[in-house]
Amino acid sequence: MEADGREQLGARVDALMDGLRADLERLAAIPSIAFPGYPPEPVEEAHDLIVSLLRDAGVTSVERIDLPDTAPVIYAEIPPPEPGSPTVLLYGHYDVQPAGAPGLWLSPPFEPTPVPGGLRARGIADDKSNVIAHLGMLRLYGGRPPVGIKLVIEGQEEYGSPFDDYPPREPGRFACDAMVIADLGNLRPGTPTLTTGLRGACEVVVEVRTLAEPRHSGEFGGAAPDALLVLLKALGTLHDKAGDVAVTGLRRDAWDGTTYTEEEFRDLAGVHGDLPLIGTGSLGERLWSGPAITVIGLDAPSVDHAASAVVPYARAKLNLRFHPLQDPREARAALVAHLRAQRPFGIPLTVTPGDTGPGFEARTGGPAYRAALTALEEAWGTEASYVATGGSIPLVNGLARAAPRAEVLLFGAQDSMCNLHAPNERVLFSELRNTVVAMAAFVREYAAGFRSPGGTA
Ligand SMILES: [Zn+2]
Repeated sequence: MEADGREQLGARVDALMDGLRADLERLAAIPSIAFPGYPPEPVEEAHDLIVSLLRDAGVTSVERIDLPDTAPVIYAEIPPPEPGSPTVLLYGHYDVQPAGAPGLWLSPPFEPTPVPGGLRARGIADDKSNVIAHLGMLRLYGGRPPVGIKLVIEGQEEYGSPFDDYPPREPGRFACDAMVIADLGNLRPGTPTLTTGLRGACEVVVEVRTLAEPRHSGEFGGAAPDALLVLLKALGTLHDKAGDVAVTGLRRDAWDGTTYTEEEFRDLAGVHGDLPLIGTGSLGERLWSGPAITVIGLDAPSVDHAASAVVPYARAKLNLRFHPLQDPREARAALVAHLRAQRPFGIPLTVTPGDTGPGFEARTGGPAYRAALTALEEAWGTEASYVATGGSIPLVNGLARAAPRAEVLLFGAQDSMCNLHAPNERVLFSELRNTVVAMAAFVREYAAGFRSPGGTA
């Protein structure tokens, strides 16, 4: 591969792009939603399509890992080309989020439709673009890249899967020197980005019951305890006047990487008019290295069906995002303790802790990290930035426990503007193409550095 030179790598990827686009369209046309209530056949169909594409790309050892209560995982291995070559684990997932309300889409979500510079469809960025990027790298090398490969393409990432806990039970299968977790992408199109941190997440439900049933607000209002009011007062204590989280015990550090400009962020978030953002400090600190608490659901009478009555019962679901390095149980306990300490009008709340998942912070500065910086710069023609993300990828922790010495690299073909999990998801061909170049350049650089006497391996 050394003989090919850098310019030729880009040209060779360009030559592959028509085929990769066609394969991405086929894959994105399959509604592989692995949520309860959705048919399993499309999930199987997406699985089978990827397996056949991998075999056609020269990958001979492809396995199916079947675990209870989850979609099949595609596992493939390519042995290292020579003794002493490193092994790289590549991750992606072939399931997608449900499309949501069809009326919000400009085209049917499972009919990939051209948009300027790319394609629109559910899952076409998250994460089918990255599955295709892995395929592109393997195709480029005819199934014989300059490193050993372990490929893990999961089928139930979006709903959550027991596979998250599997890698530590079978560490031999996941042993590697570096992993490329391609389930994200760039801060903005054209800005090559390594993600080095993922916030942890947990959910907590809080409820209030004050009366046996609704009571006439004229006859009882003013003295009968209003459950909704109690709940709202409790929720109001979660943030201070500026909008910063007011729960003690949640870690918050300064953020020293790149972040969005305020204008970009306002645009991405769709903030109305010139309303202020909430919280203080840099956006990186508010979004990535500090906590966030969002009320994601509320059970209360709807406005359209509201009776003139004191509300007897109300319930809210909270989503907490916390610092990548904070212990998940500690973070959840901080929120639960805060809520349990609240007594609006002297009335206690029932607080039920839900699932919690850890965040992740990548070690930086190792040989794989350096190779990735070089590769990203080569692919996009500009120096790479690093960011964190508010989203979580639970499997990353499972993989990191299975291969604790491996460097973890997070990059891929998505970008912050691609409407992940939202209507009108899209991917840009420029990002997909550059991601294939980056993956190919990464394995080349990493293999070369790993062998050289100057390498730290
Ligand atoms: Zn994803």
